[in-house]
Amino acid sequence: MKKLWKCSVCGFTMEGEEAPETCPKCGAPHEKFEALSEETAKKVYDSYVTNDIHMELVTLTEKIINLSKKGAEINLDPACLAIFEKAEAACYVLKEMSKAEIAGHIAKGKW
Ligand SMILES: [Zn+2]
Repeated sequence: MKKLWKCSVCGFTMEGEEAPETCPKCGAPHEKFEALSEETAKKVYDSYVTNDIHMELVTLTEKIINLSKKGAEINLDPACLAIFEKAEAACYVLKEMSKAEIAGHIAKGKW
């Protein structure tokens, strides 16, 4: 696993043997970077994967919500409508849960 460096000014993280000369985001000098411990770096790398999965879930649930709304508008019969309404409600909850989880990861520096 490569070293992971974090800018203490803005939180930008970067892989490498050494910290960059300046922070690409905020321009802070080399000395403002700190190497993350192996344990913290592993959590950050693991969260890259789970954050991507959560973002994909947000995209997929939005797709299902839009499809469900389209199906509900047609209102073919009560059973059909009930499925679309349940799908929309369930996907809304999942979408918001994934968004909140991503926000939690960011707040904890797992990004
Ligand atoms: Zn920075």
